[in-house]
Amino acid sequence: MKSAGNLVVLGSINVDHILNLESFPAPGETVTGSHYQVAFGGKGANQAVAAGRSGAKVAFIACTGDDDIGKRIRRQLNDDNVDIAPISVISGESTGVALIFVNDDGENVIGIHAGANAALSPARVEAQRDRIAQASALLMQLETPPESVLAAAKIARQNRTTVVLNPAPARLLSDELLGLVDIITPNETEAEKLTGIRVENDRDAARAAQALHDKGIQTVLITLGSRGVWASVSGEGSRVPGFRVEAVDTIAAGDTFNGALITALLEAMPLHEAIRFAHAAAAIAVTRKGAQPSVPWREEIAMFLA
Ligand code: ADP
Repeated sequence: MKSAGNLVVLGSINVDHILNLESFPAPGETVTGSHYQVAFGGKGANQAVAAGRSGAKVAFIACTGDDDIGKRIRRQLNDDNVDIAPISVISGESTGVALIFVNDDGENVIGIHAGANAALSPARVEAQRDRIAQASALLMQLETPPESVLAAAKIARQNRTTVVLNPAPARLLSDELLGLVDIITPNETEAEKLTGIRVENDRDAARAAQALHDKGIQTVLITLGSRGVWASVSGEGSRVPGFRVEAVDTIAAGDTFNGALITALLEAMPLHEAIRFAHAAAAIAVTRKGAQPSVPWREEIAMFLA
């Protein structure tokens, strides 16, 4: 039996070490930063938190190490309205790590150590079959092993669970996986990686969206940073502008957008209204530093939209 409105997120958990600096160091150069922050991140965790804080009933399939930071992250996820029962603790592994530089233009460069995220195997996904089968939607990204993303998508498709893929970080994907996806949410870089089409304006976005429709994906949402989203359903596309805010750092903008979008869709909001809700959540997130510390709660999104 389906539990109406339930969401399962499958993905990564990282601890982010964020250094703000004027400009990125060139190879061989050392640069002193202006601000340092340790914050909880990982695309999977960020999206689960964005869904939990914006009001979804969300369970999270993921792995942490058996270290102290893993314990603190699980406790925080629980406080963020995320069901942590399907999180595995991997003995002898460290929790995933991301080293992030943010420059004065708000751009970022990121290096990642997968750690426990690499242990999210197809067997661990199979152990969660019932949970995926009973959910209304499954939301995934690409920071966990690709064979596990495919295994989860197959279980979802067999059980008519909507498959939502945020194809980040950018990489090529098999036609087999793309053919199992119902909603895909690439940014411009990821859309170019998947389609070979450089997305610089709305016409390019429409072409890239069509290339993804041709792979069998019904709903294509290409996020365009401050310009909003190109939203295309079965080839009918238009741009939905975002909100104008003073961006401080764009870490987790896309993750916040994805988590809030699915929350709204599971509440049966029409697509364009759901995108507006997600734009509001992401706009709030870019005005704050860090990944999960920047993700807003439902009340803040409602106040922003009021
Ligand atoms: P990613 O973070 O994955 O690269 P984008 O940069 O495309 O994704 O941003 C995702 C969403 O975040 C946008 O569709 C928009 O809602 C919001 N967003 C991103 N940057 C800004 C900005 N400078 N101002 C307002 N909203 C933004």
